Amino acid sequence: MPATPNTTGLPTLLLNAPTLLIRPKAISTNLAALRAHVHAYAGSAAPRLWAVLKADAYGHGLVPTLSAVGLADGVAVGSLAELYDCRAAGWTKPILLLGLEQDVLPLADPSIGQVHFVLHDEAQIHTLAQLPPHLDLHIWLRHAGQLNFSGLKGQAYAQAYQQLQVLLKRKIIAGLGHLQHYAYAEDPVRLQNERAAILELQKALPGPLCTENSSALLASPQFAAHTQWVRSGVALYGINPLPGPSPIDLQAAMTLRAPLIAIQTLAPNEHLGYQASYTSPHRRRVGIVHCGYGFGYPRQIGSGCPCAVDGKASVILGRVSMDTLCVDLHHLPHARVGSQVSLWGEHGIHIEDVAACAGTIAAQLCTGLTARVQRHYLP
Ligand SMILES: *Cc1c(COP(=O)(O)O)cnc(C)c1O
Repeated sequence: MPATPNTTGLPTLLLNAPTLLIRPKAISTNLAALRAHVHAYAGSAAPRLWAVLKADAYGHGLVPTLSAVGLADGVAVGSLAELYDCRAAGWTKPILLLGLEQDVLPLADPSIGQVHFVLHDEAQIHTLAQLPPHLDLHIWLRHAGQLNFSGLKGQAYAQAYQQLQVLLKRKIIAGLGHLQHYAYAEDPVRLQNERAAILELQKALPGPLCTENSSALLASPQFAAHTQWVRSGVALYGINPLPGPSPIDLQAAMTLRAPLIAIQTLAPNEHLGYQASYTSPHRRRVGIVHCGYGFGYPRQIGSGCPCAVDGKASVILGRVSMDTLCVDLHHLPHARVGSQVSLWGEHGIHIEDVAACAGTIAAQLCTGLTARVQRHYLP
């Protein structure tokens, strides 16, 4: 069989193994669209925006993503190491340290620039009190809310707020606000309750708010006008977190593609895969793809999950193996060894749908790709 000619514009090397194509331009476009969406509803009271780059920018690569979010007001990262990576890459605007790192002493580094720290534990306040004044250090006190992952609530929250007010007056910290992460950002009624509760809390303890994430912003951007900063992660990468359609056009920033390495023809009632996970009812052409759970494509996916072969719609057949998965070619006579199989992020194969086939969410797929996948950044 002659090799498929390479007309993709990509180096041939990328066509021989599972490849992740990443589009920083899509991230910039999504950022602009999200901002316009919030501005359309919140008007001149529109808050500032943190681009959330934790977990290696949701698997898109921290440093390349940084260059795509230049129009954000700041970036949010998950660890001190990521914070220094951003500064080393030339990011000079504010950085929000979301992480659950306990130690606040490293924040005394005067070369660190404007840092916003999410404080979630009373013990951190005592260490904070020992720092020198006039650092550009802003504190967001994390309210546990209904999520209850970390943060304070009730009397402990009010007490921490009062202690931090003292540090604000002593100029040890330069700002103090309330931060909450919603438990029900995808559920309009419960989201409304969570928002009402945080407004109640703010009445008693005045200060700026940072509460909205991607789904809250997409579903009901009006509320952002009550807040000073919003945080968006998943939507920046072109993923729609809502159960229904997204109100704005989001562009996928990541495509997972892998080559066909073999074609098999099954006779009627012949089996395919470990433990005969698929049995062909008819004579059927099947494509063997060089990708599997050893690259991060979920093993939970079974027959019927959508994919595309050379841009044409098809489905997965049988069980996903470590380095192999199978696709239906019965309707694709032109498919051949070297054909490119799109597993998500192009040709109408949406990562949200693939995640649903695996019983998970798109963010897990993005962050779960292994180091074996070749990464290629498109210009
Ligand atoms: C990850 C994270 C976000 C981003 O949420 P998205 O739903 O991806 O927009 C916002 N806030 C906190 C505290 C987070 O941990």
